[in-house]
Amino acid sequence: MQTLLIKNCAAIMTGDRVTPRAAGGDIRIRGSRIVEVGSLTAEPGDTILDARGCVAYPGWVNTHHHLFQSLLKGEPGGLNLSLGDWLAATPYRFRAAFDEETFRIAARVGLTELVRSGCTTVADHHYLYWPDMPFDGAAILFEEAARLGIRFVLCRGGATQTRTLEQALPAALRPERFDSWMADVERLVARYHQPAPDAMRRIVMAPTTPLYSLSPGELRESARLARRLGIRLHSHLSETVAYLDAAQDRFAMTPVEFCAAHDWIGEDVWFAHLVKLMPQEIALLGASRTGIAHCPQSNARLGSGIADLVTLEQAGVRISIGVDGAGSNEAADMQSEAHAAWLLQRARRGMTAVPRYAGGEFEGGGDAASIEDTVRWGTAGGADVLGLDCGRIAPGMAADIALYRLDDPRYFGLHDVAIGPVACAGRAPLRALLCAGRMIVENDQIPHCDLAGLGALAAACVKKLRQRIPGGR
Ligand SMILES: [Zn+2]
Repeated sequence: MQTLLIKNCAAIMTGDRVTPRAAGGDIRIRGSRIVEVGSLTAEPGDTILDARGCVAYPGWVNTHHHLFQSLLKGEPGGLNLSLGDWLAATPYRFRAAFDEETFRIAARVGLTELVRSGCTTVADHHYLYWPDMPFDGAAILFEEAARLGIRFVLCRGGATQTRTLEQALPAALRPERFDSWMADVERLVARYHQPAPDAMRRIVMAPTTPLYSLSPGELRESARLARRLGIRLHSHLSETVAYLDAAQDRFAMTPVEFCAAHDWIGEDVWFAHLVKLMPQEIALLGASRTGIAHCPQSNARLGSGIADLVTLEQAGVRISIGVDGAGSNEAADMQSEAHAAWLLQRARRGMTAVPRYAGGEFEGGGDAASIEDTVRWGTAGGADVLGLDCGRIAPGMAADIALYRLDDPRYFGLHDVAIGPVACAGRAPLRALLCAGRMIVENDQIPHCDLAGLGALAAACVKKLRQRIPGGR
């Protein structure tokens, strides 16, 4: 088995809570696994990768995305709207405009962006399904992820009910029948799902939202099937206050209480957003060890708010980071997302400061989240939520590693280079990106990837999509 010795890293962020930084700057990899970390001596047969001037991070784990939206960045109709109106204006309005080609290019753009940010695992919440649709989105997503050599988790979305915001494009907005949706989940599990913790491909049960996408009975039934199949559960929840109103009006419960009553919380469940929660909901989520995919940039772009990760983590909620769709986050990369998570947790805490004369106890939120917390959430935290053994630089873990070069003026002047890729933001060039021990980016180049060609294809696809929407141009 081949051994690769990464030598001379300026720093190694491990993703671990107790030991967030490794002593020494070397990592030995055998096959697909990390075998040693520290100050290591080359052995006969080692292939040496000189990482002088680089910092090593675990490959990022993105736990919430909608790749089809990668061609909907900055869409003017939805640019200045909040969630409900934005959904109607952008993703739903463009849904039927996608064909096999535009869908594939969207997936390729999003995955390429992520890989170039050092991301090696992507969970895509894919809900672009309707009866008799003419292409197999799941097959395309798995193909595009395999082309890049990353781990891919398909969260099979869908709905048997529609919200009241989709008059424009009835064909692609027709809901699925519950039995055919569940049959497709079983088909996908049989075809793609790898249960082992070093999986490259996974399937997840993922109704678009528990409150709106299906009936309460179907929701419970979907959880039962997921657990019978041994797959995890994922959905959107409590992105805005509208979830609280809807759950109150329809079920006289909070959204989390509604999920709990339908077997939709637990260690095998994670929700995107969780921005607006009542205290009893945080307690329920924490006690059940349910996870969150925190999407700070999308939540900020849509004006939804900032999830309180610090309180959630203290309660026992498992924290991970997702970029969400590019239709609500024009910087869909994990370095930007981690940077935003780091800043916004501090800003959020600072917002609650009050003067001492009014009973205040602190001046600001400067200690709310460290860079190490943010890295852990975006790497090991994501891997834990997905049940994978990547996301940490430690012996025995999968060799998913990003080596960032800090040779741009943006990173000059740092007193502690380890924090550069998150603290300074921007896109640090990759000396290398490894997934399962395979080099998938070398010297900042993805093999066989023509970025200029992809840009031209994306521009042509955007034009096509705009021509296909009602009244489009
Ligand atoms: Zn989402």
